[in-house]
This record gives sequence, structure tokens and C-alpha cells, in this order.
Amino acid sequence: MISIGLILPDVLGTYGDDGNALVLRQRARMRGLEAEIVRVKLGDPVPSTLDVYCLGGGEDTAQILAAEHLIADGGLTRAASAGRPIFAICAGLQVLGESFRASGRVVDGVGLIDATTASLSKRAIGEVVSTPVLPGLSAPLTGFENHMGATILGPDASPLGSVTRGVGNTDLAALGAVEGGSVSVSEQKLAEGAVQGSVIATYMHGPALARNPELADLLLARAMGVELASLAPLDLPVVDKLRAERLR
Ligand code: GLN
Repeated sequence: MISIGLILPDVLGTYGDDGNALVLRQRARMRGLEAEIVRVKLGDPVPSTLDVYCLGGGEDTAQILAAEHLIADGGLTRAASAGRPIFAICAGLQVLGESFRASGRVVDGVGLIDATTASLSKRAIGEVVSTPVLPGLSAPLTGFENHMGATILGPDASPLGSVTRGVGNTDLAALGAVEGGSVSVSEQKLAEGAVQGSVIATYMHGPALARNPELADLLLARAMGVELASLAPLDLPVVDKLRAERLR
């Protein structure tokens, strides 16, 4: 049985990102594996032994509540320390960083990603496409971004992708403040998302795993403790069609 944690869907569930957990469950079931979604709501303890964790996007006030709960609870941090895969979207990415700006103040993040989020000069809304940087992925990544966050990666985090369309983690204005660091300014300018240890985070809504089956299977393989190459491919023309249409 593969247990898929859907973490705080009541506060990080505004943008349809709950779909990522559904996609993981469905891709597991289509391969004959048993899978279940464990919904963990605000105030509930986060189990630290699930096979994979999904966090979605949310509004500023809601994401502050999410960060406070996850820090106080500690279950997600224990899961990350044990190398359990965690997939976080937009506000989820910001919340897992060191700090983020929301509702006019700087808020402590959970600290699973070496990243800080300030504010963009202008809201990023629209299609975002990137070339994967994370080893193991080869297909272009496609999603829809809608955020005010300007996320700067520190030396312990790497981008998930390199942007070919859209904004991604930050714009140039917010980058002006960056000095040093192992991710160069030119890489930061193109960076989409963040990868650190077992955490993969991105600004891509869509839901991201419906649009990016290779990424879905990478997470599923990690949840199962097997190599991505060992998962039998799924023939889903409707997904190919969606990708072709979105990438056009
Ligand atoms: N509230 C955050 C922002 O605007 C995150 C939004 C989101 O999750 N889409 O940057």
C-alpha cells in the first residue's frame, strides 16, 4: 500500500493542487498497486511515515497558518529527515523555505528548502515552461503560475527547471538584492522551483503532475523506493494531447 499524504488541503488547496495526490494514486492503481490518500488538515498531527507528501498553493493568510502548524507539529520535518519524498507547489514551496513574505510581513518557513521568498514587482500569471535540471527528468515541464513570490535559492537548493517561458522563481528586479551564493545570478533568473534532498517544489499549478507524467512517476518511484526506469510506462494519449496543447 502506498500512502500519499495530502497535507493541509483546507489551507493549501485553493488552486486545484489536490489533483497531484489524485494523479499519484491513479498512476499507482493503473499499475496494479494499492494506493490511498491520507488527508491531513490544519491542526491534525502530520504522520511522519507516509510514502509521499503533497502540499498545494494557497493565499497569503492561509499559508501563514500552514507554516505555523507545520513548524509546531514537526512531522513533515521528520519525514524529510528520513528522506521521504515531498512535493510542494507555490505557497507550499514558499512555506517550506527559510522565510517568505505574506500579508505585508516576513514569516518563518519550515526550513526544508534553502530559499527565501520576497515579493515580485508584478504578479506572475500565465504559462510557465522549463527544461528540467533535476537529474532523471528529460521532458519539458509545463504548468500555470500565479504568484507574487520572488524566491531566491541558497547554496543548498537547486532549481527544478530552467525557464524557457514565463517567470518562474523570480524576476530581475527582485534579483538585484542577491549577492554571492552558489546559484549564480543568471541561473537564479531562469530558475523554476527548488530541489533539496527529498523535497521537490515548484510554482507550477495545473495540477503539475497531471501535466508532467514523468515528474509524477519520479515521485511515485521514490515513494515505492524503486528506480524510475523500473515503472512500466502508461499509455495515456489524453495526457500526451494535453501536454502538446499546453506546450504549443
Ligand atoms: N500567496 C502566494 C503568492 O501570491 C502563493 C500563491 C499560490 O500558491 N498560487 O505568492
